[in-house]
Amino acid sequence: MRDKIFIKWAWFLPVLFIKSQTNIHDAQNYFLIVKINDKHFNNKALIQHELVHTKQFLRTFGLHFLLYKFNDSYRYKAELEAYKASKKYGQCLVSCATYLYQNYNIDKSFQTVITDLVS
Ligand SMILES: [Zn+2]
Repeated sequence: MRDKIFIKWAWFLPVLFIKSQTNIHDAQNYFLIVKINDKHFNNKALIQHELVHTKQFLRTFGLHFLLYKFNDSYRYKAELEAYKASKKYGQCLVSCATYLYQNYNIDKSFQTVITDLVS
């Protein structure tokens, strides 16, 4: 895909995805704007994952950012919900569990993460 941007919808709001080559992460969510690494531009699982985060912003009236940053339990639940969407859209369970287990400073066993992802 040669386009540099595309729009997906989080309920009634447009979310602008911008292709980036400089991302440290696969994607970075800024509520209605998501920077996505160009190698993931067609990654449906990642796109749906990011749309979940945008909905979490909306559901919390913007408090998501602070809760996510400063509350480990909230961050785990937020990522768990987002990785369930990733799994639903094609990312395998072990990959979702590995990312969730390794990258979010959570205090859970790998087995607990697997169990939570399938519940
Ligand atoms: Zn996430």
